[in-house]
Amino acid sequence: MTTHRPRAVVVGAGIAGLGAALRLHQAGWEVLVAERTPARRSGGYAVTFAGMGYDAAERMGILPQLIERHITPDRMDYVRPDGRTRFSVPGPTVRAMVGDRSLNLLRGDIEDVLYQAVTDQASDTVRIRFGTSIVRVEQDASGVDVRLDDGTVERADLLIGADGLHSATRRLVFGAEDDLRRDLNHMAGVFTLDTLPEGVEPGVTASLTDTGRTLAVVSLGSDRAVAFFGYRTERPMDELADGPQVALPRAYGDMGWVAPDVLAQLAGAESVYFDTISQMVVDRWSSGRVVLLGDAAWCVTLFAGFGSSLAVAGADALGSALERHADDLPAALREWEDQIRPEAERKQRLGRQVKGLYAPADPLRLWLRDLPLRLASYRPVSALLQRRLQLTS
Ligand SMILES: Cc1cc2nc3c(=O)[nH]c(=O)nc-3n(C[C@H](O)[C@H](O)[C@H](O)COP(=O)(O)OP(=O)(O)OC[C@H]3O[C@@H](n4cnc5c(N)ncnc54)[C@H](O)[C@@H]3O)c2cc1C
Repeated sequence: MTTHRPRAVVVGAGIAGLGAALRLHQAGWEVLVAERTPARRSGGYAVTFAGMGYDAAERMGILPQLIERHITPDRMDYVRPDGRTRFSVPGPTVRAMVGDRSLNLLRGDIEDVLYQAVTDQASDTVRIRFGTSIVRVEQDASGVDVRLDDGTVERADLLIGADGLHSATRRLVFGAEDDLRRDLNHMAGVFTLDTLPEGVEPGVTASLTDTGRTLAVVSLGSDRAVAFFGYRTERPMDELADGPQVALPRAYGDMGWVAPDVLAQLAGAESVYFDTISQMVVDRWSSGRVVLLGDAAWCVTLFAGFGSSLAVAGADALGSALERHADDLPAALREWEDQIRPEAERKQRLGRQVKGLYAPADPLRLWLRDLPLRLASYRPVSALLQRRLQLTS
């Protein structure tokens, strides 16, 4: 690998795929990214970006751009079905709770920053082919052949499957999804709202949780708002097969509050994220010259937060391991997995522990879940948290 510029095919242009493209470019690789959708689809909910991902973003040179996109709501309102506020947490307190070296970002904004960095820095070595999926993989001692559904076959030194929870790369090389997926029996749906529902103030994040389901509206200033649905189900794959236009009205039709308004906007929504909340349990993340990255490999779920930051951390660590072992791919992949797996498994455990708190099935659990937030809403606690932030920043 030292005599020619090594080449990778990356499947998927999400956070993991774009992160890998950027980091491998920085490590001197040539990269082809194959993305199934015909064009970029940003979108998605607000996610915590901290820990290993924050450190990796700093090393990769994208931290300033991410900090620019950091969002803090003016206030977080927890409401009753009739729309009255149960309690509120002020924005500065939310910021203090997020902590130091931690950002609150829209998933799509992280993707935008990575895409911009790839197009600005790496247009000579990274190509992105939209509307392209993977159909077949064959590998031998000197390389891997990746057949794409546009009929081309791309020869590479490494194939990176960064194609998300329902990864085709994983199915082709590691086995059937049903044997590797651990469902946590919840669904998540997210889409961008054209208009802010009446009753939600600009700049405010408002949410209602009743038995087994949560609806949140995140308003970001006057012109951006996102709706988030998270609910329990015993049959996640059936919900997925029904799709958001059927499943979300069925689950939320009787919720009250702003649910009717939000559901009315669902039919015309440009792009809806709707998926099961599931983890992947894959014993080894690489096989020969094929490696899985991000949700395709581990999927920690939104219960744990950290899916986006682990995707960036995984991409950065992969680039570093490939740099350290330029002539020894198996050693690079082994070292990379040893570095990332403990953190991914820790976050998966966390995800399983907190899943019951997400959309609690009974009022007592809901009350217990809200206790820390309620405490944070009291003026003395709020002032204390804010003072602590001032002292640490
Ligand atoms: C549009 C969208 C919105 C999302 N919104 C949320 C959200 O609100 N909350 C949340 O917790 N998580 C959300 N996620 C998931 C979240 O982005 C991931 O958990 C995390 O960022 C890790 O990213 P990833 O790159 O590993 O996977 P993903 O973000 O899922 O990216 C995978 C990429 O691979 C592409 N792809 C899939 N199959 C193929 C194929 N066969 N060939 C080529 N390309 C393929 C997909 O189109 C996608 O661009 C969303 C994902 C997407 C794609």
